[in-house]
Amino acid sequence: MSDRNLIEGATGPWEIVIGCEVHAQVSSKAKLFSGASAAFGGDPNSHVSLIDAGMPGMLPTVNGYCLEQAVKTGLGLDAQINKHSVFERKNYFYPDLPNGYQISQYAEPIVGHGVLTIDFEDGSSKPIGITRLHLEMDAGKSVHDRRPDATLVDLNRSGVALMEIVSEPDMRSSEEAVLYMRKLHSILRYLGTCDGNMEEGSLRCDANVSVRRPGDALGTRTEIKNLNSMRFVGRAIDYEARRQIELIEAGESVIQETRLYDADRGETRSMRSKEEAHDYRYFPDPDLLPVVLQDDFIANIKAALPELPDAKRARFMQDLGLSRDMASVLVTERATADYFEKAAEGRDATLVANWIATDLFGHLNREGLDVEQSPIAPNDLGALTDLIKDNTISGKIAKQVFQDMVATGDSPADIVEKKGLKQISDTGAIEQIIAEIIEANPAQVEKAKENPKLIGWFVGQVMQKTKGQANPQMVNQLLRKALAG
Ligand code: ADP
Ligand code: MG
Repeated sequence: MSDRNLIEGATGPWEIVIGCEVHAQVSSKAKLFSGASAAFGGDPNSHVSLIDAGMPGMLPTVNGYCLEQAVKTGLGLDAQINKHSVFERKNYFYPDLPNGYQISQYAEPIVGHGVLTIDFEDGSSKPIGITRLHLEMDAGKSVHDRRPDATLVDLNRSGVALMEIVSEPDMRSSEEAVLYMRKLHSILRYLGTCDGNMEEGSLRCDANVSVRRPGDALGTRTEIKNLNSMRFVGRAIDYEARRQIELIEAGESVIQETRLYDADRGETRSMRSKEEAHDYRYFPDPDLLPVVLQDDFIANIKAALPELPDAKRARFMQDLGLSRDMASVLVTERATADYFEKAAEGRDATLVANWIATDLFGHLNREGLDVEQSPIAPNDLGALTDLIKDNTISGKIAKQVFQDMVATGDSPADIVEKKGLKQISDTGAIEQIIAEIIEANPAQVEKAKENPKLIGWFVGQVMQKTKGQANPQMVNQLLRKALAG
């Protein structure tokens, strides 16, 4: 696997090494240490308590719900849950940080080592180590574009709970990093601990990138901050790896630094170097007790974990006979998997899956809808496949019924009934039509006797006369008999 990842430089092959630090905003109504709203947006400084504003004498209290979400996420990543963890102060000065420190976890995070498995298109997979997950508060935001003469500060985000999820430097290509982000996105959404909305900044990735000769020790890394789309993660890493290779091949060396990705130019550029890096002077926050988790608190969360995408995919393949590709498509989003399971219950699962993956997804994508907003209820889509299976309608007519279902919201049976779309499977009726066509087209009949391929023309005639409703297999069979006779 690693061979295909090597990049050819001017002086030989190089290997990319990537480790990700992901910030995932906890889906919580309130902030990590105050009761203020953690909702996205809002008028500037409208979601700010005295604690978030860093007023003297204010004491933070830990939001238990956020602790629960961190533990849940840890369990979803097969990680060690630390029953004793500590909030520390990370000290630095910045206008959007009213306290002069961020409350984070450092030496003792709430979640330790775990693993996340990424899956390649060829069906193989690879475990990526999770180093840790810790809880921390978000900072506020400096606003530069409201007034020409001043920078303003919006503290709405100050104190919002973030989970920082750090991976081992286990990834070897931008593709692996994107697969890692996609899987993490999927797991977080299954767990409901983060909404995964990258545009709103609920999920953002800092990618650490270095290059080395295959087999060498790790090279010097740079960190690309705040990548807020899957596409940018891939592009920024590829650009950065190239830049480092060219630098080293030109006899220079990579400087450990923080870089920003400029999406418009498709480049990374230096933000600050390690020499300018802060000494954060971490120390345990004296306002907060260590977090001590009880066994039953963890056990209860574990017992309530949903089935996660990997387990669901395995079940869809084993129990329902779906192909790996189809199962992968359906399990990415929990809502899609739920829709599929409802629609497929007691039915031909592969047929139902095909209708979801092609016709339903096609419609939803065109209209920009989520599966929860589907105009067709799962059981109605399933019922449509029933009508195909029992030969009430052909697959072709079913496409027409599907369009009607989208437009009217009616059940497929009602539409078939109302529009008289039932397939004609009555031998006598079809034979009658065939007889009429043969009678009216003696020349064609002679030609068809010499060239059996011309049967297609007759099939077309029957379909035209029956508005496409004749059972195609029966038409073929009866025509062959009639033309042979
Ligand atoms: P820091 O404490 O400076 O943030 P860490 O050791 O915590 O550094 O690593 C931060 C991230 O960088 C982790 O995701 C880790 O996997 C990754 N990383 C560390 N060394 C390298 C390297 N040489 N190349 C690529 N990624 C690396
Ligand atoms: Mg770090």
